[in-house]
Amino acid sequence: MSKKKILYDGKAKTIFEGPTSDTVIQYFKDDATANNAEKHSIINGKGVLNNSISDYLMKKINEIGIPTHYIKKLNMREQLVRKVEIIPVEFVVRNIAAGSIVKRLGIKEGSVFSRPLIEHYLKKDELGDPLINEDHIINFEWSTRDELEEMQEFGLRINDFLRGLFYGISLKLVDFKIEFGRYYSEDGNSILLLADEISPDNCRLWDINTNKKMDKDLFRQELGGLKEAYQEVANRLGILPEKKKYSSAKPELVK
Ligand code: UDP
Repeated sequence: MSKKKILYDGKAKTIFEGPTSDTVIQYFKDDATANNAEKHSIINGKGVLNNSISDYLMKKINEIGIPTHYIKKLNMREQLVRKVEIIPVEFVVRNIAAGSIVKRLGIKEGSVFSRPLIEHYLKKDELGDPLINEDHIINFEWSTRDELEEMQEFGLRINDFLRGLFYGISLKLVDFKIEFGRYYSEDGNSILLLADEISPDNCRLWDINTNKKMDKDLFRQELGGLKEAYQEVANRLGILPEKKKYSSAKPELVK
C-alpha cells in the first residue's frame, strides 16, 4: 500500500490524500463485509477487479453526461478522483425485489417492479444505515431540494443506462446503491458529482439465462465463488486483458 496520508479508512476502500488539494486517491481493498461489518473476509484480488469494473462504468457514465468524481485509474488498485463533500444519503435504485426490501415488505424475491423504485438510506453505520424519506433529507438539511431532485434524476438515468449496458452482456441489473458529493470550485459554488464506486459490491447482478447471482450476495449468503463471479462480470464487460469481450449473440449457423 502507498505511503500517502490516509484521510479515511473505509470497509472496502481507503481514501488517501491526492497530488492536489482538490483530488484524493481511492484505494480498493480486498476486504468484504456484510451486516454492517459483522461479517468480514479477505477475498484476494477483489479490490483489483472492483477498481477495473468501477473505472469502466464511471467512465461510461461520464460519457452520457452525468458528472462523476472520477479522473483516472492510477494502477491496479488506485483511482484518482475529485475530492467531494459526501452527501450522507445512500440512493438505492431497484428494478427487481431482492435484499432488504424482501424482508421489510414481504415481497417475493425476483418480483419485477412496474417502474424503478428509489429508496434513501442515511449513511450512519452506528444506526445501521436506516431507511429515510425525502422529507427527512430536506428537513434535516442533508441536501437541498434542488440537489435532491438532481440526484433522483441522475439515479434514474444511471439506472436506464446501466440496465441496458448489463442487458447487453446477459446480466439483469436487480438494484444498486450510489452516493453523491459536492465538489466546490474556487468561487465557493458547488456542483454534484457521482462519487464512491459502482461494482458488484454495490449492485445486484443476475445472469439472464440462469438467474445465478454474480454480486456480493455470494458473500452475504455464503454461497462462495465471489471472485470468479466478479471475474466473469469483468470478462463480459471486456475489461480483462487476457480475455476476449463476451458476446451474448448466438453464433450464426454456417450452412
Ligand atoms: N448496498 C450497498 N451498501 C450498503 C447497503 C446496500 O452497496 O450499505 C447495495 C446492495 O449491494 C444492493 C443495494 O444496495 O445492491 C440494495 O441493498 P439492500 O437495501 O437490499 O440491502 P442489503 O440486502 O444489502 O442489506
